[in-house]
Amino acid sequence: MWDLKPALDERRQANLYRQRRIVYSHQGTELMIDGKLLLNFCSNDYLGLASNRELVTALRDSASQYGVGAGASHLVCGHNEQHHALEAEIANFIQRDRVLLFSTGYMANLGTVSALMSRKDTVFEDRLNHASLIDAARLSGASCKRYSHADHLALPSRMDEVSAGHKMVITDSVFSMDGDIAPLPELAALCDADDRVLMIDDAHGFGVLGEDGRGAANHFGLDQHQAPIIMGTLGKAMGVFGAFVAGSDDLIETLVQRARSYIYTTALPPAVAGAVRTGLSMSRRDSWRREKLFEHIAYFKQQAEKLGIPLMPSDTPIQPVLIGDVQKTLDVSQKLEEQGILVTAIRPPTVPEGAARLRITFSASHKQQDVDKLLEALAGCL
Ligand SMILES: *Cc1c(COP(=O)(O)O)cnc(C)c1O
Repeated sequence: MWDLKPALDERRQANLYRQRRIVYSHQGTELMIDGKLLLNFCSNDYLGLASNRELVTALRDSASQYGVGAGASHLVCGHNEQHHALEAEIANFIQRDRVLLFSTGYMANLGTVSALMSRKDTVFEDRLNHASLIDAARLSGASCKRYSHADHLALPSRMDEVSAGHKMVITDSVFSMDGDIAPLPELAALCDADDRVLMIDDAHGFGVLGEDGRGAANHFGLDQHQAPIIMGTLGKAMGVFGAFVAGSDDLIETLVQRARSYIYTTALPPAVAGAVRTGLSMSRRDSWRREKLFEHIAYFKQQAEKLGIPLMPSDTPIQPVLIGDVQKTLDVSQKLEEQGILVTAIRPPTVPEGAARLRITFSASHKQQDVDKLLEALAGCL
């Protein structure tokens, strides 16, 4: 094989080398890493469900009944009643005809876009969309055009440049590294035609935004006609693992027939689907989790302004502090860690060149004194 070292060294020299940290505790607001207990402000466990006792019990009970592995793909003999019930419950919750479970959000995006789009078609993507959406467009073979961030005013002329084929506009609902919310009603209006469709990646909206956490489409009151394709994940606010796509009967049937990342892979463990069912019902029931989360966000933003900590325009649990320079971002992250706070540095290519940042996230299980501790440490090292 050829020598891989030079490229690795180059990465290291550019401060872009990525390393995994080993977590020795359960997921939560405190993580045991390298023998240190760190206050965690970088997970996507927005509702604090990932280690919830009720959910752990649900997983264990479900595993006792259904075993550990699904044993096969959904279309062979792996489609368990737990999967089927979860699909129906999510569909009912977010008011869509049907839902299809996928193993991960990454696979849901790949499968959906490549099932619907092909070489003669065009995908329009927000410049800040999640990597899985960019890869999805590539895999589909459609031509991919990136539009400037949230720029629904520039999009119509970009769409008019293309005459043939189907057109799909894809956007994160809540941008994963920025925390701002896409102009979904405006994008939906642009896609109201037979040859156009809007796809929303609601990874960071589902469970957090909308009535009882129904997600970003519900937050804006967009029905199935206006927001016909919604992808949601189950490993973030739901605290477990997995993903789904929601929409019309015809959409879901098409995905069952054609989405290769659905067809050619082992189904999620049924017990995981069972645990998500409990997570879903807890997230609906415990509205205090969302209330607490949004209290933390409001408090953090207000205090950060007082302390002169520069934030980005976000009202969601994702509150990035833009630093720009990669080395400086790593230094600040390191200084925070010395004070017992974990906020990993986010570097290119996850974010654009020159836009390295600390991606701070909040959870319902944080306490106000945790937020105070973060604010104090940030003010001291920015
Ligand atoms: C996390 C994320 C995904 C991928 O979901 P997984 O279930 O983790 O594979 C897709 N889109 C966005 C916007 C995400 O943040």
